Amino acid sequence: MTRGRVAGAAVAAAFVMACSGAPEGPATDQYPALGTLIEVSIRGVAPDAQADAFRAVRDAFAHAELNWHAWANGDLAVHNAALADGRPTAPPSDLAALLARAEEIRTATGGLFDPRLGALVEAWGFHDPGSAPSAPPADAIDAWLTGTIPVRLDLGGIAKGAAVAEALRRLNALGVEHALVNAGGDVAVIGRADSRRWSIGIRNPRGVGVIAGVELASGEALITSGDYERGYDLDGVRFHHLLDPRTGYPARGTASVTVLHTDPVLADAAATALFVAGDAWPELATTLGIETVLRIADDGTAYVTDAMAARLLPTAIGPPLKLTRVTPAAPR
Ligand code: ADP
Ligand code: MG
Repeated sequence: MTRGRVAGAAVAAAFVMACSGAPEGPATDQYPALGTLIEVSIRGVAPDAQADAFRAVRDAFAHAELNWHAWANGDLAVHNAALADGRPTAPPSDLAALLARAEEIRTATGGLFDPRLGALVEAWGFHDPGSAPSAPPADAIDAWLTGTIPVRLDLGGIAKGAAVAEALRRLNALGVEHALVNAGGDVAVIGRADSRRWSIGIRNPRGVGVIAGVELASGEALITSGDYERGYDLDGVRFHHLLDPRTGYPARGTASVTVLHTDPVLADAAATALFVAGDAWPELATTLGIETVLRIADDGTAYVTDAMAARLLPTAIGPPLKLTRVTPAAPR
């Protein structure tokens, strides 16, 4: 692999850097969806086919936003309402598959990734980007810990990865060979940016700019969960949207977790679960079969697996990232 230097200024959680200045730069599309900014780049597509390709991706995100979001008016909301009433419910196959996957990952993470915590997310106000910061709701947290809070399924920790995967499937079906889809720091690619691989910046969770770059091979995803995505500061304490199901409070000790994997859905759920795991992340990474991880702790320490250290490229701006290597135990 060529080890170049990566340049750029950060505006989003992760973004494309290799395309600028390329002779035949990619065509791009940008819009808000799933509570974040969606950025799509395609290359090698005839001008008259580009609109159809972008439309297919927009449709995928619109479908996810409506039907995989617990507080929208689509399939997941209908499913949750039926669960609340104790009525039988059979969600459409795409939602059923995603729910099954989420449940599988809940089990694999020992409950650190838990799609059943919708009511807890709602009690904290993190379901609604417009909701005002509020003090921790003690009653709701007790109800969660004692299991008396109603179950409301929330796929927020997995939906962006699933939507990115679906977007790339649709592009692939349309014959697009080179594409990058970024849903607010959840990125996956096919093909290449030009003569080089697609290049992604990993955002500094505690400041501006990117802390490192990664060049993705076709079929790889780079997914980041960060406490800066959604939350508020109250009396100097950060209350954010990545909740620890064991305490009912925002998970402590981590600023961001970045996972590289070929499965965007697993990588998305894993980034959330490893964030929640805190110092215990290496064991969980082994359990999940995730080898390529960067965890920025609350104190700024950058922990990396050997596989991630081999992939990180220095940025042209800012001091070089000092890495603390962690070698997770071999799978048993
Ligand atoms: P980011 O926005 O940083 O990319 P994630 O992809 O990790 O975040 O998703 C965060 C969302 O996942 C939250 O807004 C919430 O809906 C849901 N969530 C929060 N904590 C958990 C958890 N422990 N397990 C599963 N889902 C969670
Ligand atoms: Mg996630």
